[in-house]
Amino acid sequence: MEKTAKKGEGLFSEASKYYIGGAGAAGRFFPAIGRPLYLERADGAYLFDIDGNRYIDYHSSSGATLIGYNNPTIKAAIEKALKMGYFCNFETEYHTELGELICRSIPSAEKIRFANSGTEATMGAVRLARAVTGRKKILKFEGHFHGMHELTFFNCHTELPEIDENGEIRVIADSAGIPEEMGSLVIVIPFNEPDIFRSCLKRHRGEIAAVIMEPVMYNAGCVLPKKEFVQLVREETEREGIVLIFDEVLSGFRMCLGGGQEWLGITPDLTTLAKALGGSGVPIAALVGKESIMKGLNPVGKVIMSGTYTSHMLEVLAALAAMKIMRSPDFYRHLNMLADRLYKGLEELFSRCGIKAVVQGVGSRFAFYFGLEKTPIYDYREVVGNYDFEMNTKFLKEAFKRGLYFHDYGNRMSPTHHGFTYAHTAADIDETLEHCEAILKGF
Ligand code: PLP
Repeated sequence: MEKTAKKGEGLFSEASKYYIGGAGAAGRFFPAIGRPLYLERADGAYLFDIDGNRYIDYHSSSGATLIGYNNPTIKAAIEKALKMGYFCNFETEYHTELGELICRSIPSAEKIRFANSGTEATMGAVRLARAVTGRKKILKFEGHFHGMHELTFFNCHTELPEIDENGEIRVIADSAGIPEEMGSLVIVIPFNEPDIFRSCLKRHRGEIAAVIMEPVMYNAGCVLPKKEFVQLVREETEREGIVLIFDEVLSGFRMCLGGGQEWLGITPDLTTLAKALGGSGVPIAALVGKESIMKGLNPVGKVIMSGTYTSHMLEVLAALAAMKIMRSPDFYRHLNMLADRLYKGLEELFSRCGIKAVVQGVGSRFAFYFGLEKTPIYDYREVVGNYDFEMNTKFLKEAFKRGLYFHDYGNRMSPTHHGFTYAHTAADIDETLEHCEAILKGF
């Protein structure tokens, strides 16, 4: 059962000579094995490491691979870009074709500006909201993550600070090096709390440029929104002239073509997209939204948002191929069939094996909540108060030994989101459930 890890261990010590933590990005360090997983290749639903082990992948490149690895249609699109000269910083007919498909798919998308990453897209959204409203403050919700920049990287995965008598949470940066002054432009309140939200808007009338939120709080695993709450957020922001930004970097395309906004039936002013937009791990992101706001962007408006590599040919052709795959009639039927099979199967296992844990998922992304006993979960602080990190780590370690790759970022407060792809099959899910059963029986 134990897999060989000789080459991986060796590469970790070699890579650590050059890379902090032995990896080019911090999130790749997998605490359950004490190093990153070093791959030889990836194909469909599987990862193959340099020690010759195969894993069923439930990381899906942190959600960037919704279609599966090495997809032939996306590969052909990339090859076409290579033949064209793989240039960047020019426009083509394919940019227009992709734009049309995005606008037809995402309810809030009347106009589009591309970016290279989710972080960059949310930076653009915040800047644009400030410019069009002439206001400075950004309201965000505790536990929601919007990229690693100084504008909103507060109260995501740090300790739980005190809540004042108005329901506002002390603002704390999630990274060293972020000046306190940046936090003075941010207001943090709990998610799904209508009274606190209403009174906050009243107290800060005329100051708030934007409310930014994840429609599904995947960055705390998969905490659900209360639809009435999001509806209230929509109505109140509209009334107060505040820009409502849905950060759909993770929720975009995840459960239906129109992402969280279609799923909820609530349309924001601006939306940020990334990850699944590239379909198969190709780095592309976008800020989309109402024309009345988007026209604030240069060269029409005065808000600068551009970049050398933005909407590179490789990305545009890959995203175009991805959009066509995601728009095929079978796509969401297949994803939702897998979701149902996996989540029901896991729930049944937790209960049959007497494990204090639940699974909660929307579309193709989900989380294990060890230490919690009931779904639906709407309350981030309830997660933090009950989440059993040690139990989660023990489970992920055993899963890894059996060839299931559930990545974890090592956050002790709430679980990491996991996910599967269009390339996964019912047989992959059944194999996964068999391994999970064997693990949980031994707990
Ligand atoms: N917003 C959300 C909701 C995310 O989940 C992420 C990344 O996980 C980001 C923004 C940042 O995206 P990126 O890693 O592409 O910069």
